[in-house]
Amino acid sequence: MRIGLGYDSHRFDPERPCVLGGVEIPDAPGLLGFSDGDAVAHAVTDAVLGAAALGDIGQHFPPGDERWRGADSMDLLRRAVGLVHEAGYRVVNVDLTVVCERPRIGPVAGRIREALASVLAVQPGDVSVKGKTNEGMGWEGREEGLAVHAVALLTRG
Ligand code: MG
Repeated sequence: MRIGLGYDSHRFDPERPCVLGGVEIPDAPGLLGFSDGDAVAHAVTDAVLGAAALGDIGQHFPPGDERWRGADSMDLLRRAVGLVHEAGYRVVNVDLTVVCERPRIGPVAGRIREALASVLAVQPGDVSVKGKTNEGMGWEGREEGLAVHAVALLTRG
């Protein structure tokens, strides 16, 4: 068994659609980024790559590389899962927390779990998605952006 940790943060950009874990969330500010800014997909990508000691998202999909401009980050996660499979591992489960004052994660958590499970080749019951405010403190509390913390467990085969 191998455990991996992923973290990502993005500034809000109200001009963009808000996409988290491949799910578009209406009436919420989007996230600035070279790709689609999907911080959930990015944190999970780093967690699964980290568990297999395969580097990180920036190494495999460098920002600034025109191939990844505006990329669908769930596609990047799919590619990372492919690398993990090639290395002889499969995902057991993923747990993550989105830290933000808004949008509210609870109402969309089920859809995000399903979207992630499909890409990770696991069941939705193997993916946990939690939301947490920062109680108004710090940059998350000032609603400058959001942060995602993720862990992933892999097993051989
Ligand atoms: Mg990112």
